[in-house]
Amino acid sequence: MFDKFFSYISHNIAIDLGTANSLVYVQDKGIVINEPSVVAINQKTGQVLAIGEEAKKMVGRTPAHIIATRPLVEGVVSDFEVTEQMLKYFIEKVHKRKFILGPRPRVIVGIPYGVTEVEKKAVKDATKNAGAREVFLIEEPMAAAIGARLPVQEAGGNFIIDIGGGTTEVAVISLGGIVIAKSLRVAGDRLNEDIIRYAQEEYRLLIGERAAETIKIGIGSAYPLKEKRELPLRGRNLVTGLPEEILVTDEGIRKALQKSVRQIVMAVKTTVEETPPELLADIMAKGIHLAGGGSLLKGLDILIQEEVKIPVRIIEDPMTAVVRGAGLVLENIDQLSETLTETEQLAPPR
Ligand code: ADP
Ligand code: MG
Repeated sequence: MFDKFFSYISHNIAIDLGTANSLVYVQDKGIVINEPSVVAINQKTGQVLAIGEEAKKMVGRTPAHIIATRPLVEGVVSDFEVTEQMLKYFIEKVHKRKFILGPRPRVIVGIPYGVTEVEKKAVKDATKNAGAREVFLIEEPMAAAIGARLPVQEAGGNFIIDIGGGTTEVAVISLGGIVIAKSLRVAGDRLNEDIIRYAQEEYRLLIGERAAETIKIGIGSAYPLKEKRELPLRGRNLVTGLPEEILVTDEGIRKALQKSVRQIVMAVKTTVEETPPELLADIMAKGIHLAGGGSLLKGLDILIQEEVKIPVRIIEDPMTAVVRGAGLVLENIDQLSETLTETEQLAPPR
């Protein structure tokens, strides 16, 4: 009875520490934080100035001594201290001050598939230092599949692709475990870089990352669209040094993205080829499930479907699947503990 009481006031927390966006889910409440994974730091003092949306606004606009960084690069903790700061900020934000003397929360964190032991330890330590009592780690494709309500614990095969900012993860899940998976460092960020390079090579136009992302989300595509689309793109002409606005078309952008898109499709293809035949039969019937913000690239589902000859669907609310899945594991830890990759208890259980 006390256990229940404490677990309620201690707010068990699920965190999706994405390379692009971080989400926090609190037991019995749902998603309470959904912000860009950006931290603004004053390099002279080491002080954190802003986190999330506010920090993202500073990207590319800060004076030299203020840097806006993303603590996770390509899905991996690139800056341990900043990651810890961000986790602390999230945990403190949902674990209100009045509970500071109460029990510390149990925290589950999603991590990319295939990270090393050292990287896992970095996330665990950062979470502990940020105030967690117990830390669980779950691999993101597993969490995404659970968030998509796929029957991960049954003997059938489930095929999930999670395309985030830094990594694309392709996984086949059965009986509560990952059977095969691939993680490639080609995802949303790379597509933005492709557009930056395209503007530079094709139009001698220097553009920022945000402009590139706006174009990608607006008219970017992996498969020819039904209607032609175009958008203005503003930047600086590299020859004249002056500001300039050009028009880019969906066709031009599609070409710019083609090589990276192909890499994603190839990873899916090889995973399909390596899938055991028994599981493949289920997957052909159930289809391939797309999650993550990158899955929203127009026509990507169609292209994959055409290439691998298996039906493809984007899951509902693809950008929140990982944190919702991790939250479900937290709420049903006894039934779903096999889906975790790591468990660490700091305080002995009561
Ligand atoms: P992460 O898990 O790495 O934080 P997310 O799942 O939040 O990543 O996805 C972020 C990526 O999705 C970004 O690269 C963003 O540009 C991209 N994205 C979001 N919406 C769209 C869209 N409509 N079309 C194409 N890409 C999108
Ligand atoms: Mg993600």
